[in-house]
Amino acid sequence: MIEKRFIVNAADLTVVRFECTNPKCRATATVRVAEFSHPPTHCPGCRTEWISPRLMSEEEKRRDFVVRELVRTLRGLATMAGDPDTPFRIRLELDHDAIPGAALEEKQRAQM
Ligand SMILES: [Zn+2]
Repeated sequence: MIEKRFIVNAADLTVVRFECTNPKCRATATVRVAEFSHPPTHCPGCRTEWISPRLMSEEEKRRDFVVRELVRTLRGLATMAGDPDTPFRIRLELDHDAIPGAALEEKQRAQM
């Protein structure tokens, strides 16, 4: 069996996409890492509050922290990748099955 994997250059992760978990909505908001200032406060579709700017609950504080740390890390990876003195690159590996539509695409290709 051939195992397929997708390798992503960590520095190429330039956009963070937030997807609403409401099954009737699934709207997305995208934020460019280079332009990020704060996580989106509301779903652009159903207007559910995602992270209020007032950070009222511990849960909201945790979500805000995680998103900000993610963006900070992505910016750090981009800086490192752009520095010719960095002696290594970071590449992330995705399991083929973790990519939505990949298995279906395989099946369709096999039937052709
Ligand atoms: Zn929504």
